[in-house]
Amino acid sequence: MPAVTAAVAPPTPDPATVVSGGANVRPVKASPEAQLRLLELADLDAELTRLDHRRRSLPEVAQLAQMHTRAAELRDGIVMADTELGDLGREQTRAEHDVEQVRSRIDRDRARLDGGQVSAARELENLQSEVQSLLRRQADLEEIVLDAMERREAADARRAELATEQASVAEQAAGLTAKRDAALEEISEQEAKARAARTALAADVPADVLALYERIRAQQGVGAAMLRRGRCEGCHLALHTVDLNQIRAAAPDEVVRCEECRRILVRTAESGL
Ligand SMILES: [Zn+2]
Repeated sequence: MPAVTAAVAPPTPDPATVVSGGANVRPVKASPEAQLRLLELADLDAELTRLDHRRRSLPEVAQLAQMHTRAAELRDGIVMADTELGDLGREQTRAEHDVEQVRSRIDRDRARLDGGQVSAARELENLQSEVQSLLRRQADLEEIVLDAMERREAADARRAELATEQASVAEQAAGLTAKRDAALEEISEQEAKARAARTALAADVPADVLALYERIRAQQGVGAAMLRRGRCEGCHLALHTVDLNQIRAAAPDEVVRCEECRRILVRTAESGL
């Protein structure tokens, strides 16, 4: 059975399983030149696939995603630091206000003590004890003020650190974005060139051969491969002698296919026939 001869049987059965000689099947024919164009077409399709893969896997895209995550963390960190700074500021102001109140109370008590307005021993003692207690309260409040100030300084320093990193991340992201955009532009240019070349090339391939090529490509990824030294360059398997003999016997304009992967096999001077 001439199993290696390509054939088309529209619309069914699956072209990958069709062999010539079957019912409703006609062999696909193309000049050797047109068959060679299939190899160029396959090269261009491989390049288009490569470009598409490159576009999807640009390292800048992954790096930018990381940058955006970090930028969001920094934004959150700065918001938290600002909230903390506000809280601490209010805490400090409140404590300072309390210190002021206690201090003026002490001043008033001392004025009363020094002014000799208080003469009763009991009252005098009470007033002195109140001053002592107010002094302790003042010391405690001053401690609170100091503590709030220290925490504000630390929060300030942390915020400044975050802001510095935020600026550096923004700068790196801008650089990466420019790099990514340049790469994308270059890919698009190469893609446009390959597509134009492909369109021109496809116009020189008979429609039924092109349709067969496209169907195989849709199934296998690669539609046509060179037969090189008895080996299919699509699946890299060596052809059996019987298949090679059939290909040898096939007319040059007969489109033949690999028995293993069903790709169109294109014969060249290097085919080893
Ligand atoms: Zn093959």
